[in-house]
Amino acid sequence: QAKAQGRNGAQFFTAEMNQRAQARLMVENHLRSAVAQGQLSLHYQPRIHVADGRVAGVEGLLRWHSPELGHVPPDRFIPVAEETGLIIEIGAWVIEAACAQIERWRGQGLQEVAVSINLSALQLRDPGLLDVLRASLERHAVPPGQLELELTESILMDQVDAHLVTLHALRELGLRLSIDDFGTGYSSLNYLTRFPIDQLKIDRSFVRDMLDDPRDLAIIKAIIGLGHTLGLKVVAEGVERELEVQALRAAGCDELQGYHFARPMAADTATAWLLDWIRRQAAVRGGNLPAEF
Ligand code: C2E
Ligand code: MG
Ligand code: MG
Ligand code: MG
Repeated sequence: QAKAQGRNGAQFFTAEMNQRAQARLMVENHLRSAVAQGQLSLHYQPRIHVADGRVAGVEGLLRWHSPELGHVPPDRFIPVAEETGLIIEIGAWVIEAACAQIERWRGQGLQEVAVSINLSALQLRDPGLLDVLRASLERHAVPPGQLELELTESILMDQVDAHLVTLHALRELGLRLSIDDFGTGYSSLNYLTRFPIDQLKIDRSFVRDMLDDPRDLAIIKAIIGLGHTLGLKVVAEGVERELEVQALRAAGCDELQGYHFARPMAADTATAWLLDWIRRQAAVRGGNLPAEF
């Protein structure tokens, strides 16, 4: 009987693995044509200056609507894109889309909005990355300082020396660099002084628990102190509540991003949101914060 159970257990395990492998294969197959068939879009989520409520920039976040699979969240298709190498083509599409949007906004009275995009490890290792960036920036006459690249700690921790060369080249091109999801990767801090970066984005998991768990607040304060000592801007992600805004302001955080201000929005909605935010900000007298800030 033990034998039968073992066999059933093994069969169950195999069936589940099979299902997952099949689901992954479906994603992979449909993802191959996503770029060519125009199924990708960028949504934009604003980042706000704590000091005065001005818009500090927006993060471009990839969205995929597949006719067959529906909306597939990035956490499900980006790993597949990375494993298959498709992320090179998709990443180039993201760079082009972000630059095109910056150009459009520059023609709509939003000339100062910086856009950040997320880069994968494979892109950073791709010898073609600089040319792709240069071409898109030029095609859309984008001042390079208006495009920011977000890289996670774990990306940077392997092949440190190779990445150093690439990051310096990106910096020379005029791009700004951030470390994303900071605090969740390997905690070797010495690279912070070696990499030419501009800002740290505190991972949303710390912000989520900061009001309930003093240890998370302590980590946030330590990251802000460390960042400022190194001359870096510090951004908090995943800000959902007013009390978090207050605590992060008290802790000296520079910029905030999260559902409290806005969810990631399609380009048209983001444009309307940005124009409205700026208009209301200008209308406030005596202080320059929109009412809800
Ligand atoms: P990320 O770069 O850390 O992006 C922040 C994620 O947090 C986004 O999820 C955003 O929608 C979500 N978020 C923002 N504010 C809040 C909040 O207040 N509460 C909560 N619960 N969530 C919030 P999203 O759009 O699902 O993206 C997930 C991840 O996928 C990104 O994490 C990034 O690592 C990756 N990703 C997205 N777009 C791209 C891309 O174009 N290229 C690459 N390589 N990765 C991307
Ligand atoms: Mg990011
Ligand atoms: Mg993040
Ligand atoms: Mg993330």
